[in-house]
Amino acid sequence: MSNTHESAWNACLKVIKDNISLQAFKTWFEPIIPVKLEDNILTIQVPSHFFYEWLEENYITLLKKVIQKELGPEGRLEYSIVMENNSTNSTPYTVKLPALNKKELKNAPVSMPLNLNENQIRNPFIIPGLKKVNVESNLNPSYSFDNFVEGDCNRLARASGFAVANKPGGTAFNPLLIYGGVGLGKTHLAHAIGISIKNQFPNKTVLYVGSEKFAHQFIDAIKNQSTNDFIHFYQMIDVLIIDDVQFFAGKEKTQDVFFHIFNHLHQNGKQIILTSDKPPVEMQGMEQRLLSRFKWGLSADLGAPELETRIAILEKKMYGNGIELPKDVVEYLAYSINTNVREMEGALNTLLAQASLNKKAITIDLAKQMVDKFVKNTAREVSIEYIQKVVCDYFDLPIEMLKSKTRKREVVQARQIAMFFSKKMTKSSLANIGSHCGGKDHATVLHACRTVLNLSETDKQFKVYLEDLEKKLTIQ
Ligand code: ADP
Ligand code: MG
Repeated sequence: MSNTHESAWNACLKVIKDNISLQAFKTWFEPIIPVKLEDNILTIQVPSHFFYEWLEENYITLLKKVIQKELGPEGRLEYSIVMENNSTNSTPYTVKLPALNKKELKNAPVSMPLNLNENQIRNPFIIPGLKKVNVESNLNPSYSFDNFVEGDCNRLARASGFAVANKPGGTAFNPLLIYGGVGLGKTHLAHAIGISIKNQFPNKTVLYVGSEKFAHQFIDAIKNQSTNDFIHFYQMIDVLIIDDVQFFAGKEKTQDVFFHIFNHLHQNGKQIILTSDKPPVEMQGMEQRLLSRFKWGLSADLGAPELETRIAILEKKMYGNGIELPKDVVEYLAYSINTNVREMEGALNTLLAQASLNKKAITIDLAKQMVDKFVKNTAREVSIEYIQKVVCDYFDLPIEMLKSKTRKREVVQARQIAMFFSKKMTKSSLANIGSHCGGKDHATVLHACRTVLNLSETDKQFKVYLEDLEKKLTIQ
């Protein structure tokens, strides 16, 4: 039997090392410092409260065995914890905690202090008023799988979400990370998974939370000295859905606490679903250990939907609201707004509102006006031909004139404007633009662009033309 705390602990470590993975050993046992051995009680110092809990939760049996092997059947373990949130006073605070098994620990009268100045010790396992069944899932019932239109753009994400929903925690997709640009359905899909799980497994605790909210809750918990409650709350969730995790970037403490919650849930076979606006490789300001965990399961991306899918989404939405629209209007909307589903839905709503407010029939013209007025410039590349057409329509010129070599004043100006916008809005070379506009060379195009710029600075009316045209070109 050992007689100093160091030798006793070293002997324990030897056995522990043989029984767990090297990674786990490095993470959870190397940072421990033995402090004393008195009356068969070995005191070890651990870096944080969380650390202590983790040991108790995950290594209690092993610890008990090695302590008893080393110190005899009366051997006990106590923890000394260096409190985290107190940089001015870093004196280790000792709590005498017998190593108990999980069940005993839950009922144990002693527990961890919440801060150094508090003599009153509160049991973190008892959160007043909090029962498992009380957890509000925060799921939006209209974001269901039924309402989520499938397309090439979302097939993988949808299918993996579906698999996860049927077997939460039981697939290789843990965590499931859904990523993609704004308004492409990440939040919708995340809710759909949660709703489906709730329907199939009513006893599972499902929680949807935005990462921003999570971060705020954590800050509040620090302020109120209730980080334990916070951690325990999240650790008892069966299916945790965190939306927009990219928001954690640069927030070290939040990442830290999330890391621990993540580990706990994952180790216990709980399902984690995350969404992000970018894939893990592109997330900056995120801790490496967290990023590597994000990659453990499956990352599935949501792309921008194809035209057919956009039409189907609009139709589904109309059907859901009992609305009917002329087919050409639906197609026009789907065609004009091609990057973002949320914006497309917004356009539909605006159109409906306009029509009912002004008691107008919904026609393609109304749709065009509305898109002109309300929809933000969508990043679609226009072609030289298209620019020429819009410019000619605007000045009421036949397009052949613009393409010809004529030097008529009105035509020259329209042609210069078309060149100017072609240079500004397409990736075409000057030479290519010139060849489309009456077979001019690149120097002529450059000259045209300068002339247009100059005129727009000196001629108010001309400036209005340009602004009008630009609007038409960017919106259509
Ligand atoms: P994100 O979270 O990616 O920014 P959301 O999930 O909030 O996007 O989606 C924006 C809107 O588009 C929501 O109203 C959502 O219902 C709708 N939407 C997106 N993708 C689809 C889809 N495939 N089927 C039906 N609606 C969709
Ligand atoms: Mg979202």
